[in-house]
Amino acid sequence: MAQLILKPGKERSVLRRHPWLFEGAVASLDGRARPGDTVEVTDGRKVLAKAAWSPSSQIRARVWTFDPDESIDDAFFKRRVAAAVARRQALPDLQGQEGLRLIHAESDGLPGVIADRYGDTVVVQLTSAGADKWRNAIVGALRNATGCDRIYERSDSELRGREGLEAASGWLLGTAPAGDLVIAEHGVRMNVDVVAGHKTGFYLDQRDNRLLLRQLAAGKRVLNCFCYTGGFSLQALAGGAQEVISIDSSAPALATARANLALNPQLDAGRAQWCDANVFDELRRLGEAAARFDLVVLDPPKFAPSASHVQRAARAYKDINLNAFKLLAPGGMLMTYSCSGGVGLDVFQGIVAGAALDAGREARIVRRLQGAADHPVALAFPEGEYLKGLLVQA
Ligand code: SAH
Repeated sequence: MAQLILKPGKERSVLRRHPWLFEGAVASLDGRARPGDTVEVTDGRKVLAKAAWSPSSQIRARVWTFDPDESIDDAFFKRRVAAAVARRQALPDLQGQEGLRLIHAESDGLPGVIADRYGDTVVVQLTSAGADKWRNAIVGALRNATGCDRIYERSDSELRGREGLEAASGWLLGTAPAGDLVIAEHGVRMNVDVVAGHKTGFYLDQRDNRLLLRQLAAGKRVLNCFCYTGGFSLQALAGGAQEVISIDSSAPALATARANLALNPQLDAGRAQWCDANVFDELRRLGEAAARFDLVVLDPPKFAPSASHVQRAARAYKDINLNAFKLLAPGGMLMTYSCSGGVGLDVFQGIVAGAALDAGREARIVRRLQGAADHPVALAFPEGEYLKGLLVQA
């Protein structure tokens, strides 16, 4: 096995159990390794970890194990996958969820591996050279841990390019289900398009926050911006909202949102309006029309995929939050999110505070929001905390 030799001092993050080894931490590679091969990580004296080698990425290696005696083989993946699934089974909120993240990459000790379960279908996304190499072991382990016979690969994330990998999608086990794939979330039925939907088909991370919106929605006028397939919108209707206006710029997402509403005859469809528009423009238009809402949700896409985009992203967050504050009725609430890894909670809170100030609104945080428990954040890996939100009351 080749040895990755660290520069002096660079062993510190490994000793803190951080799983990434950047280009600048690597003194040399002793021996030969192909992309995805397992290498020993050493400070020149002793082996500290075993990691997957990724020569084309700035993250040159991702640690599989900090135990130098642990072998990286099929049994390793079987253990790690089974442990991730068992952790979820131990959490009451997650028991019985039809849509569930089973593996959350680094935070579950499996860098580059995402796995989501929708009913009896599992969708995997492999985003690193190491994960790609161990595809068969991961699929076997997932089948073993879940009993699911349908496993679909959605490895089309832009992250793969940085690892020197091509996109890869298709059924790895079983075939497409005969009809639509539908899951129930808090009793609301939702279509999941694992082939063409965003991410692996659905934004599972917002499950708890959608329930919170439902609890706040009775009798309220709700504006849901960046609605995708209507997850927040349908929960607001289920909570008895008076009206729900939902905006998205994706026609396919809105078509699925409408289909989702039709799947739920218990909801009053007459209270829902779907608006195919750019949120930035539509918030201004609503402001000019003097519209007012009791609850506004802002769940935009990742404006800052990396630290280099933070300035531009900050302007975009400021713009939508400012215009959303202007639309809030007295006592109204704004539920606002950022899923940009490059924008930390402090920065995001500062942007929202600036937006309120410029809108001339006084407001206070009544709840901090995060991803659901099936999207854990390893203590040694704060980078895993991408989703942050604030519930702000005017
Ligand atoms: N809240 C959703 C997930 C939102 S994902 C849920 O709970 O499922 C972000 C959405 O923003 C995507 O559907 C995308 O189509 C949409 N989007 C991106 N940029 C947009 C823009 N400028 N205006 C309107 N919608 C946009």
